[in-house]
Amino acid sequence: MALTFEKHQEKDRVISVMSNDGHFRVSAIKNTNSALEAQLRHNLPEIPALLLARALSAASLLAVFLTGEERVIIDVVGEGLVSKVTAEAIQVGEVRGYCEYSKKVANLPKFDFANVLGSGIFRVMRILYNEPEPIIGIVKLVRGDITSDLNYYFAKSEQLFSIALLDADTDVNGKIVNSCGLIVQAMPGALEKEKDEIENVLMKIDRLTNLISPKVELFDVLKNILPWDITLLKNDRVDFFCRCSKEGFLEKLLTLDYLDVKEMKELGQNELVCQYCNSKYYLNDEDFNFLLTTIKARTN
Ligand SMILES: [Zn+2]
Repeated sequence: MALTFEKHQEKDRVISVMSNDGHFRVSAIKNTNSALEAQLRHNLPEIPALLLARALSAASLLAVFLTGEERVIIDVVGEGLVSKVTAEAIQVGEVRGYCEYSKKVANLPKFDFANVLGSGIFRVMRILYNEPEPIIGIVKLVRGDITSDLNYYFAKSEQLFSIALLDADTDVNGKIVNSCGLIVQAMPGALEKEKDEIENVLMKIDRLTNLISPKVELFDVLKNILPWDITLLKNDRVDFFCRCSKEGFLEKLLTLDYLDVKEMKELGQNELVCQYCNSKYYLNDEDFNFLLTTIKARTN
């Protein structure tokens, strides 16, 4: 029984709270399992895994403020040894992501993020129910550690005063052992001195991983850190989960030209890989025949 409870305790969670005076809302996450699963699925070296963990946290922390199946996509593109970090989270607690990088990244020391992504862009996209188009904000990369870049994005693009802390750590084998984060946002009515106060509180936190571990109750941690009384708004599970399916891939392939699909068949290119979760799907003759017949029917 004890073991079961421990495992339950260590499940990934994201919570949101509001200060009792309504001046601030905060989201906090512990997502070590999801970050490790992302690392294992994509077989990531240490630094890409740490960056992806932070991006997964950022996406989930922003998604928790949304409703239903509204989504947040964090997209980081750089010219350095890591060229892309993408994380996508749905409010319901699903998160997925991937990282593109050069093999040379394995030679860099841990946490040497400064030049890993190099120059590039940091993009936050929100897909919301009552907006016909995604809401997109883009800033240039300032440090490439995801945390600084997200804070720069907040300063440049968001109407709300917001501060993020994102952290992750690995063991001696380079595997994720802790991933966590929090975002504080001021609501209309928050006073400047209150914003200064919370900024000072957060700046004193050296490593968030010292405060949030897989076992902690996030609400208790926030009660200890935050200078106000708080009320819990949400406490949700987070899981690395990808909605990809063979059917989904087939639907996309139906948009290709007949000759392209015919060529794929002839060359035996039957492996489909989901970039988000690295799942592999294989097309058999029946699938190819279905695709070719349907495309032909469509174009006739
Ligand atoms: Zn997938």
